[in-house]
Amino acid sequence: MRLEKMTWPQAKQYFEKNNIVLIPLGSTECHGRHMPLGTDTLIPEKILTLIEEKTDVMIAPMMPYGCTDYLAPFPGTINLGHDVLYQVMTKICESLYVHGARKFVILNGHGGNIPVLDRVALDLQKKGGMLVQLNWWQMVWNIVPDYEGNMPWHGGHGGAEETSAILYIDEALVDYKEIQDAPMKDIGPLQAAGMKNVVFKGVEIPIPRFSHDISDNGWFGNDHPRFSSRKWGEELLKGVSEYILDFLEELKKV
Ligand SMILES: [Zn+2]
Repeated sequence: MRLEKMTWPQAKQYFEKNNIVLIPLGSTECHGRHMPLGTDTLIPEKILTLIEEKTDVMIAPMMPYGCTDYLAPFPGTINLGHDVLYQVMTKICESLYVHGARKFVILNGHGGNIPVLDRVALDLQKKGGMLVQLNWWQMVWNIVPDYEGNMPWHGGHGGAEETSAILYIDEALVDYKEIQDAPMKDIGPLQAAGMKNVVFKGVEIPIPRFSHDISDNGWFGNDHPRFSSRKWGEELLKGVSEYILDFLEELKKV
């Protein structure tokens, strides 16, 4: 049930009986040379198409921009930054609150949005509301834990996990010839590890810096995109979709 396709009397009727609303939030940002800029928006949108017929929870329109300060210098990236995204998400939730929403379920496609969502969650809690974050790419680590070869794949950006999801959505969106190694740039003797950390004596220390100072390519992590497959992407997105349907039913009882 998509809000943009409902009339206002239908919305009024919905909020007379229900207080849950699902709000999809993405990002438009670099995901490596091989992946579309809309990766973090296209994946939540695909999850919505897998669940919308099977749930009666209202779905708000997709928000395709997020907070992506680290990746902002890469061409095509559109960054709202923390303050603007906080304002936008606050206004969206406040509007829905006035109409009757109290449980705000954010289907989130991008890690950089999380600190902003945490802040909005505490604001809503003060008003008797609740914000739930469905960070799909973290949820699937437990929902679909196994992968052929048990390659470490948790926490990557533009790696095999997200590339597989995009292959499942549309194989034509992945530019195979651009899949390549993306060595991370160390800071002097300090070895780079992940999107902002360095390693010293086995301990990871965050030194936040722009992503193009860490990788020229724009994908990061352990899970090399060459291990991606359409089949795995289907498993990930179908698995997380089934879980979300069950979770929404449980949340109704809260
Ligand atoms: Zn992403």
